[in-house]
Amino acid sequence: MPRVPALRNRLKDTPVTGAKRVLLAAPRGYCAGVDRAVIAVEKALERFGAPVYVRKQIVHNIHVVSTLEKKGAIFVDDVEEVPTGSHIVFSAHGVSPAVVKGAADRQLDAIDATCPLVTKVHREAVRFAKQDFEILLIGHHGHEEVEGTMGHAPERTTLVNSPADVPNIVVQNPDHVVWLSQTTLSVDETMETVRLLRERFPNLQDPPSDDICYATTNRQVAIRKVAAEADLVIVVGSSNSSNTMRLVDVALEYGAKAAYRVDYASEIQQEWLDGVATVGVTSGASVPEVLVQEVLDDLADAGYGDVSQVVTAEEDLMFSLPKELRKDADGNADERGLGGRVRQLDWQKNR
Ligand code: SF4
Repeated sequence: MPRVPALRNRLKDTPVTGAKRVLLAAPRGYCAGVDRAVIAVEKALERFGAPVYVRKQIVHNIHVVSTLEKKGAIFVDDVEEVPTGSHIVFSAHGVSPAVVKGAADRQLDAIDATCPLVTKVHREAVRFAKQDFEILLIGHHGHEEVEGTMGHAPERTTLVNSPADVPNIVVQNPDHVVWLSQTTLSVDETMETVRLLRERFPNLQDPPSDDICYATTNRQVAIRKVAAEADLVIVVGSSNSSNTMRLVDVALEYGAKAAYRVDYASEIQQEWLDGVATVGVTSGASVPEVLVQEVLDDLADAGYGDVSQVVTAEEDLMFSLPKELRKDADGNADERGLGGRVRQLDWQKNR
């Protein structure tokens, strides 16, 4: 990703009580699924040439999307918009079988960049539906991941949008229900929803493993620790990114006096820094590290040049490329593992 031109020296270094510092949460930023999806589009452009079509935003970040657009990606809402015979990439959030069929009907060459951890939830939905379970899917109405997961078992799935939905859920057999979830929710709120569901359905079955993914969980754990000491938390990420928005919620819940989301450093307001000694900084799972660097640079201009990283976990999960891209045009295999770890822990090298 190119470095983003910032409006430097915009923020003033005003005096506060106590030493100014930044606590930088780690893990933050790119997860393995996002890394893989972005590289899939880049590689598809290299291999097939522009344009390559992408259904929905490949990941929920406006900088990533606009950068890929400049390279020749065209983002569409529906496969119907794509000319017959073109290449199309399915986003990290996953798609329903109906979308896969729609692409095949239009003779599109599909590259599936669905995060393997979302595919895992799809498989769970299919398996539980085959066993005649009713699936209570905890997730946000209208989110692409939720639409994709529901599309794998549409007859058997009920969406639970929030704890407030629980009293109104109707099932046919209260003894044969299972809960699944979107991968990017608040861990605490989801557990509260499950607790309420279990009060209503004591025989509620758990999924075989957590659906909230490692990256979402790790970023929330890290910001909890930072937030407890922060006067202000800045979360870098886009407003349609579920895991980014949850980081704002979690920061406020765990003690930050204020928390704001920004897409770019230029959105930081001078008044947010009034009286602030400690600034916490983190970023959502679809955010390239360059955007965090810009925030740190602007904060340094305002006197917050003392940056300590608060590390609560190290991530080494990696995924291989989508199968459609693992071989180059000459048939040579590309088996590299793709993960977000290196990009986020190497921050000091880039400064
Ligand atoms: S946030 Fe989790 S589920 Fe989503 S792309 Fe990243 S690793 Fe995959």
